[in-house]
Amino acid sequence: MQVLKFGGTSVGKPDRLIKVADLVIGAAGKKIVVLSALSGTTNMLVRIGEFLLTGKKKEADDEIGLLEKHYQQYAGVLFTSSEYLAIGQDIVSRYFSLIRLLAAGAFDDRSYRELLAQGELASTEFFYYHLRERKVESRLLPALHFMSIDENQEPELEKISERLKALLPSMSQVDILVTQGYICRNHHNEIDNLKRGGSDYTASLIGAAIRAEEIQIWTDIDGMHNNDPRVVKKTQPIAELTFDEASELAYFGAKILHPSTIVPAQKYGVPVRLKNTMDEKAPGTLISDKGTRGEFKAIAAKDNIIAINIKSSRMLLAFGFLRRVFEIFEKYKTPIDMISTSEVAVSVTVDDESHLDKIISELQHFGTIEVDKHQTIICIVGNKLAEKKRVLADVFQSLGDVPVRMVSYGGSHNNISILVETNQKEKSLRLLNQGLFNLGE
Ligand code: ASP
Ligand code: MG
Repeated sequence: MQVLKFGGTSVGKPDRLIKVADLVIGAAGKKIVVLSALSGTTNMLVRIGEFLLTGKKKEADDEIGLLEKHYQQYAGVLFTSSEYLAIGQDIVSRYFSLIRLLAAGAFDDRSYRELLAQGELASTEFFYYHLRERKVESRLLPALHFMSIDENQEPELEKISERLKALLPSMSQVDILVTQGYICRNHHNEIDNLKRGGSDYTASLIGAAIRAEEIQIWTDIDGMHNNDPRVVKKTQPIAELTFDEASELAYFGAKILHPSTIVPAQKYGVPVRLKNTMDEKAPGTLISDKGTRGEFKAIAAKDNIIAINIKSSRMLLAFGFLRRVFEIFEKYKTPIDMISTSEVAVSVTVDDESHLDKIISELQHFGTIEVDKHQTIICIVGNKLAEKKRVLADVFQSLGDVPVRMVSYGGSHNNISILVETNQKEKSLRLLNQGLFNLGE
C-alpha cells in the first residue's frame, strides 16, 4: 500500500484535480490518497472564523457568499453529466448550509475548528464523486474515524494504527481510498486539526500507521532543492536525503514539507518521496534511512532569530550553570535552536519573542546579557559531514568576508549552523551556492 498526498494547489482548479485523478488511476497497486482543501479555502475559512469570533457576522456572511460562488463554479466545471452536475451542486449546498448553521450559532473555538475542517471534507468529496463519474471504483475513508490527537495535541500513532487496521479490511476490494489531510479528533472527541500545512503530516502518520511501502508527497516543484530559489539564480533538486537531513531542512526553512512530517515515517522507516504533479517523470527527492555520506546536500535559512549572550564570571569552573540558564527558557516554553559556549559566556538563539522580556530579566541575575535581533541561521546539511575532508574550511572559504556571529557543528552528524545578521543572508546563500555546489552565485 502507498500513501499519495496532494496539496491545495494540486486540486485548486478542476483541471488540476482531474490531472491528480489521472495520476492516481495510473499508479499501480493499492493506495490511500490524502487531499488538502482546494487552495485558498483554509485561508478563507480562517478569515470567516475570525470574523465570527469577533462578532463581525456581516463580514463573515459576505466571505461565505464569495466562497460558495467559487465552489459552485468549481463543481460546474468539474462534473460534466447532468446527473453528476446535480450531485456537485448538492455537495456544495450541503457544505454551505452547514457553514451557515455554524455561523448562526454561538460561535466558539469548537465551532471554529469544525468550520476549518469543511475544506478537506469538501475537496475529498469532489474527488470521490469525480472518480465515480469516471466509473473508477474508490471509497471515502473518513479521517475523523481514525485520526486523533491527545491532550498535548500530539497524534496518537498507535491508536491511529489500530483503528486503520480495523477499518481497512472492509475496503480491501478497492484500490483507491480517499481521505482528508489536516483534520482529526482531539481527546474530547471534538473535530480538530494538525495545524496549518498539516496534510503532509496526515500522510506521514497514515504511512507509518499502516507501514506503507512509500509515502508520496506531490507538490508543484520537483522535490527539495539545494538552496533557496528566491535568492540564488540556479538551484538543483536533491535526488536523495536521509530522514535526518530532511528534518533539518524542513525545520530550517525549506518550505516544501511540514517540519513534523518526517517523524512518523522515520520511526517505521517508511520512505518519503517528494514528487511534482507538473512533471510526473521528474525523479523528485527520495527521503529514507539510506543516503550518501560525507557530501554537502543543501542549504536553508531561517530568519527572525534572536541571539542572546549571557556573560558571567560565575560560569568559570562552575557546574550546573547551563542547567539554570536552560530552566529559564523551559519555564517560558521557549525553544533554543543553537548554542555556543565558552568558559565564561554562553550564546543561545531563539525564534520566539513572546516571553523575551521576562527571560532576559531572569537571566540578568547571572551576569551581563546582550541581545541581538535580526539574525538568520544558515543551516548547511549533509549526512555524516565529519567524514568529509575540509568540511569547515570549505564553508568558511566560501563565505569569504561575511561576518559570522555563531557557529554550531558536531551537535548532529548532518548539520553545520551558522548565525549571520539578516542583511548578510542573501550574500551568504549565494556565496555558499557557488563555493559548495559550484552552481554560481
Ligand atoms: N488545508 C490546510 C492548510 O491550508 C492543510 C494543508 O493544506 O496541508 O493549512
Ligand atoms: Mg502544504
